[in-house]
Amino acid sequence: MAGDEARQSAQRLILIVEDNELNLKLLKDVIEYHGYATVVTGFGEVAIDLAHQHQPDLILLDIQLADISGLDVARRLKADPQTRAIPIVAVTAFAMLGDRAKSIESGCNDYVAKPFRIVEVLELIARYIGAPPADPTR
Ligand code: MN
Repeated sequence: MAGDEARQSAQRLILIVEDNELNLKLLKDVIEYHGYATVVTGFGEVAIDLAHQHQPDLILLDIQLADISGLDVARRLKADPQTRAIPIVAVTAFAMLGDRAKSIESGCNDYVAKPFRIVEVLELIARYIGAPPADPTR
């Protein structure tokens, strides 16, 4: 299977869950530019399926999604032995201070507040899964 081949490579895989198309494109482009592979969705239910299917190295999870709350996505992934070890970085709204505490309570390992600086996101990713092996300046 293609998924198995992907897991054999050194490239780290990040699942990006974000329902705002512009934010999603920005995150995907920058994260891929920095040498990580991505799978993306704007829907929480799809995110749970993708996490099982691809076993990503890290999940970047917007808390405010259109279908179900990102908090519920985190709770379900962390309650499931198949996905509980995957680090989750929540993306919360800056104005919603309560979202930070709630995201940690829901099992997220860390959070970044919108509007985020992309360098913050990259630092968090590297903290949990290491810098990518590829040289982005190639
Ligand atoms: Mn959102």
